[in-house]
Amino acid sequence: QARSDGVGVRFYEPVLAERMEVRRRLELDLRRALALKQFELAYQPQIHLESGTIGGFEALLRWRQADGSFVSPADFIPIAEETGLILPIGEWVLRSACQAAAHWSHPAVVAVNLSPVQFRNRGLTQNVVAALAHAGLPPERLELEITEGALLEDTEAVIATLKSLRSLGVKVSMDDFGTGYSSLSYLRKFPFDKIKIDQSFVRELEHDAEARAIVRTIAALGSSLGIKITAEGVETQGQLEEVRSHGCDYVQGYLTGRPMDDAAARASLARIEDR
Ligand code: C2E
Ligand code: CA
Ligand code: CA
Ligand code: CA
Repeated sequence: QARSDGVGVRFYEPVLAERMEVRRRLELDLRRALALKQFELAYQPQIHLESGTIGGFEALLRWRQADGSFVSPADFIPIAEETGLILPIGEWVLRSACQAAAHWSHPAVVAVNLSPVQFRNRGLTQNVVAALAHAGLPPERLELEITEGALLEDTEAVIATLKSLRSLGVKVSMDDFGTGYSSLSYLRKFPFDKIKIDQSFVRELEHDAEARAIVRTIAALGSSLGIKITAEGVETQGQLEEVRSHGCDYVQGYLTGRPMDDAAARASLARIEDR
């Protein structure tokens, strides 16, 4: 709708144009990033509390630009999703993570984040099969992390996709659990192997009785449903003791290990072997 006052137009136009320009440049840069091999994966350990050893690593996407600076995935993944570039990028992530894990000296799991756009893509199961085969990675060593955004569509289609992934032998986990509107109902509806309790609850554990009750409830629910629980974003010893006492199975956070490159991940696995 055209505005007649001129003032509003002059005020808004440059801002919008500027924002669109930033977006357009980011999209072009993203397109180029794949070809220029500017993507890397960082691996963050997931510690199995009972044994105290590394159960797996979450693969986290890193974009290193030509000047050496990193762009946060939180900043570029939304644009990759809007433009569809998340499909080739996601496929690169899947293949690279499987390949790295196939070379680890210890059979740790590698957890890969799937965008809702990838989850809805028809070729997903075939891509997973191809990535496993290409790397020679046994399916039980791959875990796929899915957020609630992937579950909002047609329930039957979502269940069919989850079943087809699980029938390969791949594990599926629900990421950022508790942040959505109907996390609990999703648990009943959809077959998951693992729940990752969102960092926002873990952060409040030491001070907030409600967060504590929520974590305890999720952990109890998980154990009665036979679903493993990971607590995300554990930064302090106090939080670690809390999640342990509430019955979580795994922890992931800066306290037990920052995201690291593949060489460092291998070195930490080698230390397990040495014990
Ligand atoms: P996420 O899947 O929830 O991943 C966990 C994020 O929390 C990571 O941020 C990780 O570095 C950070 N983190 C881990 N431990 C701690 C802690 O103790 N304290 C705090 N404050 N943060 C911690 P990162 O790597 O920046 O990734 C952000 C998000 O970007 C991820 O959240 C995920 O949603 C998305 N993402 C990352 N890699 C991929 C990918 O390959 N594909 C897709 N589709 N999304 C990805
Ligand atoms: Ca994740
Ligand atoms: Ca998460
Ligand atoms: Ca998150």
